[in-house]
Amino acid sequence: MTTNEPEKIITRFAPSPTGPAHIGSIRTALFNYLFSHKLRGIFMLRIEDTDKERSKSEWEHMLLKSLEWLGISWDEGPIIVEGQESIFDSDNYSIRYKGNRGPYRQSERTQIYKKYLQKMIDEGHAYYCFCTKEEVEAQKSYLMSIGESPVYKGNCRNLTKEEISEKISQGKRSVIRFRTSENQNIAFDDMIKGKISINTETFGDFVIAKDLETPLFNFTCAIDDHEMNITHVIRGEDHVSNTPKQIAILNALGVKHPIYAHMPLILGQGKKKLSKRDAETSLEEYVKDGYLPEAIINFVAFLGWNPGTEKEIYSMEELITDFSIEKIQKSGAVFNPEKLDWLNGLYIRKKPVTELTNLCIPFLINAGLIKKHTELSFLTTDTEQIVTMNKIEKAILLYQERLKKLSEIPELIDFILKDEINYEKDLLKWKNMTDNEIVLSLENSIKIIKDIEDFEKNVIEKVIFEEAEKMPNRGNLLWPFRVALTGKQSSAGPAEIADLLGKEKCLDRLELAIKKIKYA
Ligand code: GLU
Repeated sequence: MTTNEPEKIITRFAPSPTGPAHIGSIRTALFNYLFSHKLRGIFMLRIEDTDKERSKSEWEHMLLKSLEWLGISWDEGPIIVEGQESIFDSDNYSIRYKGNRGPYRQSERTQIYKKYLQKMIDEGHAYYCFCTKEEVEAQKSYLMSIGESPVYKGNCRNLTKEEISEKISQGKRSVIRFRTSENQNIAFDDMIKGKISINTETFGDFVIAKDLETPLFNFTCAIDDHEMNITHVIRGEDHVSNTPKQIAILNALGVKHPIYAHMPLILGQGKKKLSKRDAETSLEEYVKDGYLPEAIINFVAFLGWNPGTEKEIYSMEELITDFSIEKIQKSGAVFNPEKLDWLNGLYIRKKPVTELTNLCIPFLINAGLIKKHTELSFLTTDTEQIVTMNKIEKAILLYQERLKKLSEIPELIDFILKDEINYEKDLLKWKNMTDNEIVLSLENSIKIIKDIEDFEKNVIEKVIFEEAEKMPNRGNLLWPFRVALTGKQSSAGPAEIADLLGKEKCLDRLELAIKKIKYA
């Protein structure tokens, strides 16, 4: 359906559901979203699933869920009606559309494309080509051997209606090619890259459909951009070579083409190309690793865009206000995972601890440390002890400052949730302490702990630090004490930990540490 809204800015994110959302596609979605929001336009989601073999509804579902998770909402396109618990669970969901320019899935637009294909054939802008793959390849090899560009030379360009009918009746297979004007420069003003001009001789008569019901990418994309009133196409630089073909199709139809903006490539460390199928860069990996959507958005926004100020922390609202295509750089954007970790840590520190705890709970459950009990409590997996939300919150608070990813939390606080902890006895040793000194130190700690009546962080801290000061070296008391409680090389401070574990557990662990030294 064509509507008449010439002035309204309409952008689209047009993913092919052939794999998970990755950093590159998230950036495309985000920049289109920011641009249209800033100009109070429409942001559309269109599913480009013409490649039937590779397109899967699971991927489509995941793309939609990924955008939702990131907080990138769309004004038109498919929406999920029934979501499932996990954002990446694609069972039993259904999709409907919002907006009146649909359907928003190319596989449901076959009749629209067919109408345009037929029109282009009737008007001579496209033609049936019966050359076999082998013939086309042989021709290309020959052209290369004489130093010409390997493009189709149009053997079937001028077949008569009779010749076409005859070949069809003989059962010859065909494709539909676009009749490209010879030796013509197709130029367009790219909002990022400036003026681009590509000669038609570099691509010749390209295939736009396998048959009337099987159109190919460049054709469907051009038709949809026109039919859906897209005003601005913001996409990756890898699509630059498609643009003159799409413009040629739209020119043949006598309609305007959208304004194009091609974003620089995202390069990996060492300026190597990031691969679309690289699992490392798929959003699901980042979710599993415990990155926050705010951090990913902030990080992705800076992949190629630079506001030109010192400001590095941006909420979505601030991005909408400050975003401009003019500030997108032309050269490749380098992907720096350390920056993402830094941003994630920063957003983690900004979270209210209750919210952070809720975000960490699934990681603790997945790590097999706890399972759900009631609304506000859990059971430890090993001994089914009740552990309250409040206690987990306190444990997380101890690590909030140093946490970079949510996935680090199980490893950091497992000693609080497990009954038994495992560590090498050598870990108990501070500097040159002998086994005997360690045992004496631990026995001393037991004595102090036993005597504390009001077993609470401040009291514990005062007492153990006072005692530690009496030692030749504070570490002689504090190190074995802390390791006995946590089994870890590094952790939060000894008093906070003792408070969380409770007196009884502290005593048990100190005893156990002594046994380790004596009998292990
Ligand atoms: N479907 C294309 C892709 O996923 C995008 C096409 C476009 O943005 O024009 O690469």
